[in-house]
Amino acid sequence: MTKQKIVVVGAGYAGVSATKFLAKKLKKDSDVEITLIDRHSYHTMMTELHEVAGGRVEPSAIQYDLQRLFSRKKNVTLVTDTVTGIDKDKKVVQTKLGSYEFDQLIIGMGGEPNDFGTPGVKEHGFTLWSFENSLKIREHILETVEKAAIEPDPEVRKAMLTFVVCGSGFTGIEMVGELIDWKDRLAKEFKLDPNEFTLMVVEAMPTILNMLSRNDAAKAERYLEKKNVKLLLNAPIVEVAADHIKLKDGSSVATHTLIWTAGVKATSDAADFGLESARGNRLIANEYMQAKGYEDKNIYIVGDLVYYEEFPETPTPQIVQAAEQTGHTAAANIVADIKGSEKHKFKGNYQGFMVSVGSKWGVANLFDKIHLSGFLAIIMKHIVNLKYFFDIRSGYYMFQYIMHEFFHIKDDRNVTRGHSSRYGNVLWSVPLRVFYGMVWLVESMKKIVGTGDYLKPSTWFGEGSWFTDKVAFPFPWLQEQVTTGASAAGGGAEATETTAKAAQFGLSYAYGEEPMQVFDHMPKWFESVMKFMMPNQEVALFMQKFMTIVEVLIALALIAGLFTWLSSAATIGLTIAFCLSGMFYWVNIWFIFVAFALMNGSGRALGLDRWVIPWVQRTLGKWWYGTPKSRYGSK
Ligand SMILES: Cc1cc2nc3c(=O)[nH]c(=O)nc-3n(C[C@H](O)[C@H](O)[C@H](O)COP(=O)(O)OP(=O)(O)OC[C@H]3O[C@@H](n4cnc5c(N)ncnc54)[C@H](O)[C@@H]3O)c2cc1C
Repeated sequence: MTKQKIVVVGAGYAGVSATKFLAKKLKKDSDVEITLIDRHSYHTMMTELHEVAGGRVEPSAIQYDLQRLFSRKKNVTLVTDTVTGIDKDKKVVQTKLGSYEFDQLIIGMGGEPNDFGTPGVKEHGFTLWSFENSLKIREHILETVEKAAIEPDPEVRKAMLTFVVCGSGFTGIEMVGELIDWKDRLAKEFKLDPNEFTLMVVEAMPTILNMLSRNDAAKAERYLEKKNVKLLLNAPIVEVAADHIKLKDGSSVATHTLIWTAGVKATSDAADFGLESARGNRLIANEYMQAKGYEDKNIYIVGDLVYYEEFPETPTPQIVQAAEQTGHTAAANIVADIKGSEKHKFKGNYQGFMVSVGSKWGVANLFDKIHLSGFLAIIMKHIVNLKYFFDIRSGYYMFQYIMHEFFHIKDDRNVTRGHSSRYGNVLWSVPLRVFYGMVWLVESMKKIVGTGDYLKPSTWFGEGSWFTDKVAFPFPWLQEQVTTGASAAGGGAEATETTAKAAQFGLSYAYGEEPMQVFDHMPKWFESVMKFMMPNQEVALFMQKFMTIVEVLIALALIAGLFTWLSSAATIGLTIAFCLSGMFYWVNIWFIFVAFALMNGSGRALGLDRWVIPWVQRTLGKWWYGTPKSRYGSK
């Protein structure tokens, strides 16, 4: 049986979303083969390019390995290769290294910067539309500031420390926002006065952020001005040189850094495909995302590359939501074609815009109804980004994103102003870890030894131990069933009553005081859970022994620094359960806070986690995702 071959070109937002959809819907169709081709072995989180360019996150933070994204999709083959052409009649995709036949083709190769032919942009300017672009800007800025720091000529030094962003769309404003944050750090690192830096946005139009409401844009404008960013409006750039830019009014600005974000057009890689194009070289498609003139050839265009007029003269916007939705439409139509069902027409549904101006401030317009500014807009942007990982079903990268943005960020460059990313030496928590482990060991050993002698194991497991046939839990439904153990349990209950009478609240034990229980009665819902888990004395006896062994193991793990995060988390769970059972006192509530403190990787210093955790991560990663490669399956 010949297989149906679906080829997706471009693993951007559109391509990934389309491939995920196809892989899910066609997972039972063994006669369908899906091939995803991209020039990179990773998906680039384009919306965060400015964070790499502006030195906020490490470059790897925005590269999402394709195998990690598709490891559970066995019907998807990954290919790392550059597409050079398409033979529409023979239905073959040509790449630098080979060729791929297709029955159905989705082209989502994205866009590239449009310099509108402005002289000098290619030679002397920097663009921000790929991973490589963002690295180039980052390296150039570091190099330029380093040179400026030792430049004796004040004019040249000023030009070197002047950073100009051309364009005030979200790319430009987000870029300059990063520079606002990075400036102080750069000044400190290269022993410069931050006031020597000049940040500038040059815009050909009279207004900025034109996709936002004027009110939202005005807030952003005020914020930029407060941060000393110079806004040159109505100022088209007509020429770019290595050490200056020229404006239309004849004036010039001395600078060694011009970041061009003023326009986007379709990727020139698709220009020779022989498909009809419109404004910005975008390839024209119909409402099903089928390429104009090739509707019968099953060629679909998606993302930034597609030109589909949603409304007269208004093509789909070049934003992530449109990319995902066009990708989804094309994929759904391929599925419809294979399954013989009706095709879907594209219908855009855009929930708004979010623009970050640095890591702590932003503006957002949601559903054209909710307008946010400041840190709330940034939180909203993070929520939207996190939702993206949910959409593409990547728990791994969701976790990595949280780590990069909240916990591993340098120089306080996040919405928590560094409160979530302060690093300390975990060596200082080693004594606490060992002490806490000892506390659990002593307490669990009591349950083993009972009234016996610690130094004589033959006396263990006797009177007072949890390893006898007496139920230790003071739960009423367990006591009723017990006749022999009733006195011990009843004694416990009486003791509880006596304690409750005189109990005084305190967070540390004070001499002479009766400590107070966190809960003196089990909440009803928890009682139901406990009754379910320990319905009778037999199960309770097993549970009390099992719990004791678990506590010993946790104690030993903490002392040895083995699986410290998990062990600490388990002690939090146990402590909460003890509290709800009416078996825990306020004076010991510090267990919970100590356990949180030890979740800081304390097992990696003088502990086994130093070796065990990297090994577990490597082994599990390889088993679940396979080995990440710099190239996938190229011919
Ligand atoms: C700095 C910046 C900030 C942005 N911020 C936002 C934002 O906040 N919100 C928003 O909605 N949008 C934002 N955008 C726009 C958004 O990133 C794009 O609309 C989106 O990336 C388009 O997705 P796509 O899949 O069409 O293309 P892309 O994401 O560009 O993906 C295209 C893919 O095709 C591959 N490719 C290209 N040519 C070839 C070839 N010849 N062979 C093989 N593979 C090829 C590329 O490697 C790439 O993986 C921003 C863009 C930038 C640059």
